[in-house]
Amino acid sequence: MDSASPSRTQGLTCSACGYVNPSWHTTCERCQARLVRPEDSYPVTDERPRRPGCLIAWVMIFGSYTLVTGFLTLFDVVSVGAFGPADGVFMLLIAAAQVLSLGIVIGVWQRRPWARIPAIGLHFVLIALLIVSLVQSPGVDPATAETAEDEFRASADVFGTAFWLALNGVYIWWLATRREVFEPRTK
Ligand SMILES: [Zn+2]
Repeated sequence: MDSASPSRTQGLTCSACGYVNPSWHTTCERCQARLVRPEDSYPVTDERPRRPGCLIAWVMIFGSYTLVTGFLTLFDVVSVGAFGPADGVFMLLIAAAQVLSLGIVIGVWQRRPWARIPAIGLHFVLIALLIVSLVQSPGVDPATAETAEDEFRASADVFGTAFWLALNGVYIWWLATRREVFEPRTK
C-alpha cells in the first residue's frame, strides 16, 4: 500500500469530464464515469529485466572458482615455506589478481556496463592458465594407462578439460553477445 503516492493524495482526474475526485473514488462524483488510476493504465513493472539465469550461474561458477583457486595458491605458497623475495612478489600478484577478479565478479553481478569486457578477458586468462597447466603437467596419457584407475583418471582429465574449455568458450560468446544485459540503469 503506497498511501504516500502522489496520485492518491492529489486525487483522481476524471478522463471524461476533468473533475478532480477524491483519490478513493472508483467512479466520478460529477459524471459517474469509471475512474482510471495511473497505476491501472501503467502497470508497475521492473525498470530492468530480471537477472538472467546465465548471469547467476556465471557468478556462482567463476566467483567461487577465482576465490578458491586464489586462496589455494596463496596457501600453497605459504605452506611450501622458503618465503623468499620472489614468493612475496608472487603473493602480491595473486592477491592483486584476486581483488581484480572479485571486482569483475561484483561488477557482472550488478550488471555494470564496464564489467563485460574485463569478464571476457578473465575467460581468456582462465583458458591460457589451463593451456599452461596442460603443457606443464600433461597428466595420464590414455594410451599408456595401465590400471583401470589410471584410465579413469585420464578420461576424467580429458572430460574435465574439455568441459572447462567449452564453458569458458560459451561464456565468452554469451558476454560478447549479451550487451543488453549490461546496459546502464535508466534511473
Ligand atoms: Zn467525470
